Amino acid sequence: MVKSQIQILPNPKQIQNPKSKTFWDLEIGIYLVVLVLLVVLGFLCGCQSRYLYKDSRVMMGTFVEVTSPDKQAAGIAFAEIKRIEDLLSKYKPESEVSQLNKTGKIKASPETIYVLKKAKEFWLASEGAFDITVGPLVQLWGFKDKNYYVPKDEEIKKILNLVGFEKILFKDNDNVVEFSFPEMSIDLGAIAKGYAVDCAIDKIRAAGITSCLINAGGDIYALGNRFGRPWRIAIQDPRGKKFFAYLELENQAIATSGDYEQYFLKRQKRYAHIFDPQTGYPANSGLVSVTVVAGDCLTADALATSLFVLGKDKGQKLAEKFPQTKIKLIEIKDIVKYGE
Ligand code: ADP
Ligand code: MG
Repeated sequence: MVKSQIQILPNPKQIQNPKSKTFWDLEIGIYLVVLVLLVVLGFLCGCQSRYLYKDSRVMMGTFVEVTSPDKQAAGIAFAEIKRIEDLLSKYKPESEVSQLNKTGKIKASPETIYVLKKAKEFWLASEGAFDITVGPLVQLWGFKDKNYYVPKDEEIKKILNLVGFEKILFKDNDNVVEFSFPEMSIDLGAIAKGYAVDCAIDKIRAAGITSCLINAGGDIYALGNRFGRPWRIAIQDPRGKKFFAYLELENQAIATSGDYEQYFLKRQKRYAHIFDPQTGYPANSGLVSVTVVAGDCLTADALATSLFVLGKDKGQKLAEKFPQTKIKLIEIKDIVKYGE
């Protein structure tokens, strides 16, 4: 049957002449049209499944951007990040953190306790370099309301009495958190965004979504991959507008801490928003930027800040406690070289 069809195929000239069309000519024409339609349809479907939805919002004091082939991903992420923000932001008066800062004592939710205990782990691991009790320092130097000021040594010394994680007391089977001094305050700016990204990714996974990138002001998680290829993350040049390097990630988090986004200049000197809790001054360890790649975003976030405070040499010991992480330190001397 098939063979005989082939035998009576018209020659190309016949196809060009409509008058000489046979039943078989028409059938081949239909086959061709169907084939072309299928190719076009396949192409369109292919294009559609390669489409990435992108949405961004200002949340937790930064731009949160969600990229995914799944339209639902951004909505799920924003809802979850808002929930964490309502719980942990020092700028939301109703948050548990604001209540604790206001009254010096609260009965906290298990989730807040979880984040505080995580912060304690990094405080211990970094031997005090990572310390969420820097709140009074952040305020004194004017970073809370962008009213920058270089305090006098005596002022810093006085404020340092309110700094130190050992002054946070956990009571009643860890249900109650109390400050040793009511004037103390905590600031989860170096860990809460990472935690929020992890929570959002958990929700996105639970919804069956397998590919998504969340970027909360440089705290990033790359879920799955991007149409079979790893997500590509650009690392910003700390002293320029260009990108410094690219990293390829799949199911990993990345966070960067640096002195180039929140800082002020006074008499040619740069004062940035990450403090050395030992001195009460902005960290001055010779680094301009620290990037950490880890399995979860909370770890990447907290480690990047800790290493920024500790610097290259002291940070070595801390880095060794996290063998699964990849760390990139950019030193001031690298920047000088880079600028030449
Ligand atoms: P960013 O928030 O810009 O991503 P970080 O994750 O490094 O940067 O967090 C910096 C913030 O953490 C500061 O703005 C301040 O609120 C808080 N912070 C400052 N110094 C410390 C410190 N030594 N340990 C923990 N948190 C800190
Ligand atoms: Mg951080």
